[in-house]
Amino acid sequence: MTPRLSASAPLDQFSEVSVEPRQRTALSFEVIPPRNDADASTTAELLKVLQGYNPDYIAVTSSQRSGWLEGTAAFIEQISRTTSMRPLAHLACTAGTREELIGWIDALVDAGVRGLLALRGDLPEGGMPAHYLQHADELVRLIRHREAGQAARFAAGSLAVGVACYPNGHAESANLDEDFDVLLAKQRLGADFAITQLFFDAEDYARFAQRARLAGVRIPLIPGIMPMTSVARLERMAKLSGLQVPPRVRAALAAASTPDEEHEIGMELTAELTRSVLRSGADGLHIYTHNNPHITQDLLNRIGVHP
Ligand code: FAD
Repeated sequence: MTPRLSASAPLDQFSEVSVEPRQRTALSFEVIPPRNDADASTTAELLKVLQGYNPDYIAVTSSQRSGWLEGTAAFIEQISRTTSMRPLAHLACTAGTREELIGWIDALVDAGVRGLLALRGDLPEGGMPAHYLQHADELVRLIRHREAGQAARFAAGSLAVGVACYPNGHAESANLDEDFDVLLAKQRLGADFAITQLFFDAEDYARFAQRARLAGVRIPLIPGIMPMTSVARLERMAKLSGLQVPPRVRAALAAASTPDEEHEIGMELTAELTRSVLRSGADGLHIYTHNNPHITQDLLNRIGVHP
């Protein structure tokens, strides 16, 4: 039987991945709420494929393009109704006022969500409205405050609260020390885990994780892996994240003579990145699926993880 990556599968069973014995590594997926009917027609297949891997949770993004939490909540409802995967909702300060966020926290909890990723969101043009929460640490505090007010509902556990972290530093931060200070503050306020922004070099993740530990960060720092399928896509995603595509990666992809070859080189680079990150002892693997089940399957296949 082929071992799979999940909370219950020891990583040392993997042929291509060697880490300390008995370590457990989480597997999670990030999905985007469908934005139109064409998107919606493919979600059933997406969810079926992802469910096959029995992930520890499935994270649903929220953004203006999907009607903020309207789209997130509707997709979570579909996930809960049609699969047995545990949904986690992204919640961003940019989604509304403090009162509106409270309404969303309560609505998502009512819908069965037991995990939230607390984010600031990308700044709107003109900056964050003055009467909104300004940073994600305030949202972590607000979520824990709402939770404390209804502790009995969580008698069998508590809300899992995640935050974002940045192996190459957040574009607005003065330096990495600021990022560690912010991460420590979020940990103090009740964050349980952090998921990284995309990155291109396993060493960047390993160095970041090591420095974070030295600074006193104890929560899991789960690497977010984005399949690198083409230079054009990488440039787009890197720009959105305030990152530069490393010359090494750009040159490797540019050497391809056809789009298929470029895809193949990119997927192999992603697989190698993933293997290296797991070898460095990462606490989990979070795949940015961009709602593409075939690319997600391909990546997992390449690292020896099967449904
Ligand atoms: P913050 O923690 O507020 O940090 C932003 C900047 O402010 C940093 O420079 C930080 O150092 C600084 N800072 C933080 N706290 C303080 C403080 N108290 N005082 C002064 N400065 C401070 N965006 C969406 O809109 N929807 C999503 O679904 C979404 N999902 C994401 C998932 C992941 C895994 C990641 C990594 C990012 C995601 N984002 C999403 C993008 C995210 O919203 C942006 O990266 C945003 O620019 C910063 O979010 P944050 O939560 O890190 O913000």
